[in-house]
Amino acid sequence: MRYFLLTLGCQMNISDSERLTTVLEKMGYVRTENEAEADLLGVIACSVRQKAIDKVYGKIHRWNRMKEKKALITFLTGCVLPADKERFLKLFDLVFSTNEIPALPDMLSQYGITTPYSSRTQGDVPGPSPRKEDFPSLVKIARERREGDDRSILDRLWEIEPSYHSPFEAFIPIQNGCDKFCTYCAVPFTRGREVSRPSGEVLEEVRMLVERGYRSITLLGQNVNSYGLDKKGKELTFASLLDEIGKICDAAGRRIWVYFTSPHPRDMGEDVVDVIAAHPSLAKQIHLPLQSGDDEVLRRMNRKHTEEDYRKIVRYIRERLPGATLFTDIIVGFPGETEEQFRNTLGIFREIRFNMAYIAMYSPRPGTVSARWKDDVPHEVKRERLHRLTEELERGALEATSRMLGREVPILVTGKDRKHGFLAGHTEGRIPVRFASPAADTSFIGEFITVRITSVTPFSMEGELIRVEEEKWQESAG
Ligand code: SF4
Repeated sequence: MRYFLLTLGCQMNISDSERLTTVLEKMGYVRTENEAEADLLGVIACSVRQKAIDKVYGKIHRWNRMKEKKALITFLTGCVLPADKERFLKLFDLVFSTNEIPALPDMLSQYGITTPYSSRTQGDVPGPSPRKEDFPSLVKIARERREGDDRSILDRLWEIEPSYHSPFEAFIPIQNGCDKFCTYCAVPFTRGREVSRPSGEVLEEVRMLVERGYRSITLLGQNVNSYGLDKKGKELTFASLLDEIGKICDAAGRRIWVYFTSPHPRDMGEDVVDVIAAHPSLAKQIHLPLQSGDDEVLRRMNRKHTEEDYRKIVRYIRERLPGATLFTDIIVGFPGETEEQFRNTLGIFREIRFNMAYIAMYSPRPGTVSARWKDDVPHEVKRERLHRLTEELERGALEATSRMLGREVPILVTGKDRKHGFLAGHTEGRIPVRFASPAADTSFIGEFITVRITSVTPFSMEGELIRVEEEKWQESAG
């Protein structure tokens, strides 16, 4: 029995797919990248962008046509808005939240589905037999729901050992959901309220990854730096959790880069910046979403910070972490955004000189507050603003990459580059770098190496291999 899994959206969805993979493979399913040979077809969806939802519709219509020739099961999970969920319920066999991933075996058996476990007598069953007691029952989950104990459901998800997507880079979810309710955002409706993962579990996972030789760890959460606030003093703060992680990774005696995404400017205290400055293993790269450089637009977005709040924390970052790269997210063409308001965003770009910005043209998501407002900035104006802002971003980013010319910098090699004979990696600041690999040698993948930068563009660099870091990554990492 084989499964096909399509994962759309952000790193959090990739992290969820790592746990879903463990659950499916414990049941005896074997992964295939060929939809035609799968018996179980699933999507981890993302309602944050309409494009991703359109892709899900394309897939399910195709899969439902395949059902005419073959018995197969389809399921949908991930970040799905209630309005999208309603429609998908009619198209998929199973629709469930990511919190319910641990209950998938029960859902499949209640649906009357023949799993590899129940079809063992037919022979040819790949992988280990599933043990039903490995998974909490749906009935128990339903009972806990009634008692309002959502957290233990999430704890069960986090307790599943992930099937990591890489032997040297790992994601660790530390928090789920969001309480901020930005007026354009679907996350509070798809992922629910903020819940922090117990710090003991997070630190245990960090220790395990360090022991296995992992090079890069990214802490994940929709609002990662409000970690602990939901526990009202009974849990570490984000700064103290980072501090503990920094101690573990610094003590490894080798290079490790620890990242986190995404923080909210309102919860980005100076204590977090101080902790990053104190630990070599905490990567000097910060992705801090701004969304708009205009206070009135920020107010309508319900961002709960002003442009001056943002400037203030950036000044502190520049002072304490002078070499750090700064990334951001921006929405152009939010309802009512005037030319003058957009120029305020251009102005803050000119001042801050971001290394990277993910700039999106506003599009309403059903069920959010701003979807009730008139989407009154014409599409051509949104495109023009995106273009102008990208040009400003490129000017600032190119200044930063140009300063790197001729320098020797360590990079983590992550895979093959699209350019033949080249490998790709990134600096500690997450600036992509490619270099010619001698005789197409891929053994550098997963290693830290030093390159000398020979040419740059605003968002990437090219270099030549100088040396490989002495401490070698152990094969035991897998
Ligand atoms: S902070 Fe705002 S944009 Fe970020 S997840 Fe929460 S509601 Fe969405």
